[in-house]
Amino acid sequence: MAARPAPYLDGLNPAQRQAVETLEGPVLMLAGAGTGKTRALTARIAHLLTTGTARPNEVLAVTFTNKAAREMKDRIGRLMGEAVEGMPWLGTFHAICVKLLRRHAELAGLQSNFTILDADDQIRLMKQEIAAAGIDEKRWPARQLAGIIDQWKNRALTPAQVPASDAAAFNNRGVQLYAAYQDRLRNLNAVDFGDLLLHMVTIFQAHPDVLDQYRRWFRYILVDEYQDTNIAQYLWLRLLAGGHRNICCVGDDDQSIYGWRGAEVGNILRFEKDFPGAQVIRLEQNYRSTPHILAAASGLIAANTGRLGKTLWTEAETGEKVRLIGHWDGEEEARWIGDEAEAMTRGTRGLRPYTLDDMAILVRASHQMRAFEDRFLTIGLPYRVIGGPRFYERMEIRDAMAYFRLAVSPADDLAFERIVNTPKRGLGDKAQQTIQQMARSHGVPLVEGARLVLESGALGGKGAAELRKLVQGIGRWHGAALDPRESHIELAERILDESGYTAMWQADKTPEAPGRLENLKELVKALEEFENLQGFLEHVALIMDNETGEGGARISVMTLHAAKGLEFPVVFLPGWEDGLFPNQRAMDESGLKGLEEERRLAYVGITRAEEVCTISFAANRRVYGQWQSQLPSRFIDELPEAHVEVLTAPGLYGGGAPQRSSLEDAATRADVYASPGWKRLQARSAQRPLAQPREARSIVIDAEAIAAFDPGARVFHQKFGYGTVTGTEGDKLDIAFDKAGEKKVVARFVVAAGQ
Ligand code: ATP
Ligand code: MG
Repeated sequence: MAARPAPYLDGLNPAQRQAVETLEGPVLMLAGAGTGKTRALTARIAHLLTTGTARPNEVLAVTFTNKAAREMKDRIGRLMGEAVEGMPWLGTFHAICVKLLRRHAELAGLQSNFTILDADDQIRLMKQEIAAAGIDEKRWPARQLAGIIDQWKNRALTPAQVPASDAAAFNNRGVQLYAAYQDRLRNLNAVDFGDLLLHMVTIFQAHPDVLDQYRRWFRYILVDEYQDTNIAQYLWLRLLAGGHRNICCVGDDDQSIYGWRGAEVGNILRFEKDFPGAQVIRLEQNYRSTPHILAAASGLIAANTGRLGKTLWTEAETGEKVRLIGHWDGEEEARWIGDEAEAMTRGTRGLRPYTLDDMAILVRASHQMRAFEDRFLTIGLPYRVIGGPRFYERMEIRDAMAYFRLAVSPADDLAFERIVNTPKRGLGDKAQQTIQQMARSHGVPLVEGARLVLESGALGGKGAAELRKLVQGIGRWHGAALDPRESHIELAERILDESGYTAMWQADKTPEAPGRLENLKELVKALEEFENLQGFLEHVALIMDNETGEGGARISVMTLHAAKGLEFPVVFLPGWEDGLFPNQRAMDESGLKGLEEERRLAYVGITRAEEVCTISFAANRRVYGQWQSQLPSRFIDELPEAHVEVLTAPGLYGGGAPQRSSLEDAATRADVYASPGWKRLQARSAQRPLAQPREARSIVIDAEAIAAFDPGARVFHQKFGYGTVTGTEGDKLDIAFDKAGEKKVVARFVVAAGQ
């Protein structure tokens, strides 16, 4: 070893080196944000491989997101100076368990081509079970049952193992419905997300020979973000590491943010008990953030109780204080962030210029994203949304995927149900019931039931002819999907054509139809990265990170949860208002548990920032169509004052185009500015007042003003952004918009733009 250069060790501090080089036995790296835990973990893998201690397929490495897995793979490659081939077992818990479960599906009563259900399918199935049990779904909603069952699965409890203390769940019927749901999944040859781990834990427990095989196989185990593992994941790891005990976990108790999904921060605290003699390594130097940012984050998290407590220091230069700014409403907040981001690309407020790739907006709740997306689309600011399966959630994409699923496994009943009458084939409820009954009485999948119905002649007319086409189609597509010589991309296109699905949208005259056709094209394009349909379907089922478009710098928008482990030079943290962040549920709770988890989330947010961190809040927000006045978050009060600077927004309300204030109720305004929260903030920033509310300005302009729009005039339109007038016609203007293209708009709706 000593004779070989080891570039991956370069620059690591002694504690990190220890974590990298202690290969045998249990190691726990417990340290604060940005101290290089992930970096050390990555170097450790490089070390295992370079020294020949392990082959790539002998290393089991678990990351929290698919994105993190990809990055880790790239980084290992760079550290070793060559592409790592293999590393088949580097991925998320779910991705790894899918692979394992495909190998051992029969031990869980499944076939290896089982389908992974998404949340929608899961709910649909539960609704059916609830109805079958004669329970009123209105009083006992399926979503609630889904939550209960998920929590049981997170605790690795099969229906038979649910403790008596949980017997009252879901009106005393929870356990029974859980059992029925599991049977149903098995009959459908399907699993939900929670099953992936539950089945694997159950298989390992019931089949020591299988477990043994993997204990020998995975000689080294590494886990990032260990503080967020749930009990099922913990048991799974403990089973696998039980033999050789070569397990290295890294985490930070202050960043445990998945308690609501069953994560147990106790797992990290129990590590030394589970693995006696474990080396515990602490890292204290933070390499990510400037001192003000670090101090603000540390000050905030200090309000939590029961922490392990850590010292963090940095050698970085002082830099900017955490910036705080208040806005009139949510739309203005989005507007300000868009403008500020653009300004920062040129360098503003004495800061160096940044690219949009350097910037991220981290929101507490995904619904906050819409305001930013709308705003960025209007001004043409390139952005990407990370962490939400947005694209794949769209109706047309889900329909198309259902067709692909049927091509891969024709017995996928949920997929069949979804598309049997989409496009319309004259197969209404009654025809579908006939198919269902036929399938059930013969114990066969729906597609087979449909074939039997056709044979029996029970169905006539257009419906029968269309159904025959569909059933034959599925047969053909399945044959093609199995044929390695067939291009899966061409097959996908053919399926969408032959099924009439593309034609359905082509014939559709609603304004959304063209966009949907675009999305379908995009879907087929996405297939290019995969070898076959099954690989693609798997990827989509697992997808956590979804980046749109390619090329060019973009600002990232994501939830705080999705930002875990990431870092950006510039971070915006909008919506710091009581009820939003911390969220209402946490505030209503009697104990501190929820509130402390929210605070850890705030800590995660601030510690993502390397150089500039801007926290903002709005005085008013529209909640379910109602304007509501907001108070600044209590977390803002908890930030140590010495590290915070209150910003004004110079020129924000002056220059540029006047915009319609979206607030109708002036009375609320007075209330908000009289509120203690706002006053406290103003007192704090005596010399530098908060951004004052903009006066509502009307965009209605009179007839003389219209005449002022000569061709060539620069104008601004609320929806389409900036543009140049190319012609006039009565009260309408032809405008070439910078981003939205040529449009004819009513002159009343544009205003002169002073550029
Ligand atoms: P988090 O808790 O947020 O996941 P972390 O502890 O995993 O953080 P890393 O992401 O590994 O921290 O590292 C934070 C940053 O510090 C990265 O940019 C990394 O490259 C850098 N870094 C880590 N260790 C060193 C080091 N020894 N010298 C210089 N830079 C380092
Ligand atoms: Mg990390």
